[in-house]
Amino acid sequence: MKVALLTEPLKFQVAEETMPEPGPGEVRIQVKAAGICGTDLEAFSGKTPRGWSITYPFRMGHELAGVVDKVGPNITSVKVGDRVVPDGRLVCGVCTYCRQGKFSACTNAGYTSGGFMEYSIYPAKNLVVIPGGVSFVEAALTEPLSCCINGESKLSVVPGDTAAVIGDGPIGILHAQLLKARGAKVVLVGMVPERLDLALQLGIDAVVNIEEKDPLKEVELFTQGCGADVVVVAVGSGAVLEQAFHMAGRFGQVLYFAAIMKPKFEIDLDLVHYKELKLVGSYDSTIAHYEKGLKLIAQGLINVKPLVSHRFSLEEVNEAFETARQRKGLKIIIEPGRKTDGERSVDNDS
Ligand SMILES: [Zn+2]
Ligand SMILES: [Zn+2]
Repeated sequence: MKVALLTEPLKFQVAEETMPEPGPGEVRIQVKAAGICGTDLEAFSGKTPRGWSITYPFRMGHELAGVVDKVGPNITSVKVGDRVVPDGRLVCGVCTYCRQGKFSACTNAGYTSGGFMEYSIYPAKNLVVIPGGVSFVEAALTEPLSCCINGESKLSVVPGDTAAVIGDGPIGILHAQLLKARGAKVVLVGMVPERLDLALQLGIDAVVNIEEKDPLKEVELFTQGCGADVVVVAVGSGAVLEQAFHMAGRFGQVLYFAAIMKPKFEIDLDLVHYKELKLVGSYDSTIAHYEKGLKLIAQGLINVKPLVSHRFSLEEVNEAFETARQRKGLKIIIEPGRKTDGERSVDNDS
């Protein structure tokens, strides 16, 4: 089987490996679609995101969907042919956080990552079955959506609340859709005209292009001078976090949802004190958030399909990452079963 290995910064090699065999409690998944995450991009660029350790050759891909191809002994929860999304977290189940169901905080956690390859092994208990009507490409967005759902779970939002989302990448647009689904009136702040247009098509109430308008003034207008009840920061920047404190109204909630390579920043904390703001961080998700995410996609409450801007075969992995690195498009998907060249038009999306 073929696997994409990062052999040095900015370079994948597609290698041939022997087919992996599922052991007890495990299944083999034939990968159908795997998304490139912002963190994958950092690793590709030669950086080491916090919590990662990179040794070359390095394998990646944690936003994937596929079909169960072979099951290990005594597996009854899934069968060959099931369409699934795997959760890559390997959790112990017995630490204090696992016992509270807070699996993303497991103190003995490991991680398995197998998206950019043809076949991959996961524990059977880490799989969520994809509902009918949801394609593999859509299901590949379950992981980022699940992280957004985890973040949203920390916010209290009631219909009629106003919300500002800063960041027009896939994460910002997913948050904007989630806030809409919760009944908020939502403005998305960004700088890429095509992305802002897409947000409007997806039903987001208003957008602000920071290249053209002052986002603070626009959010003030949008909220009739009150400031936003909720501000989600989906851009990794301390300056943007401070901007969020300005955008928030009295008692506003600010969700900081972005990894950042330069985390130290001087910030005006009086804004938090005098406006009585609530600042929450959010990282990762649990398998329960995966289930919720797939349900929201199946119900049509969250529309992920338009977020997919490019689809590449496994052989085109370098081109796919370069496209992502140049910030072209939105979500970039690698389909290991996809044929290169002339057969691009064959969209086997089921
Ligand atoms: Zn991700
Ligand atoms: Zn644990």
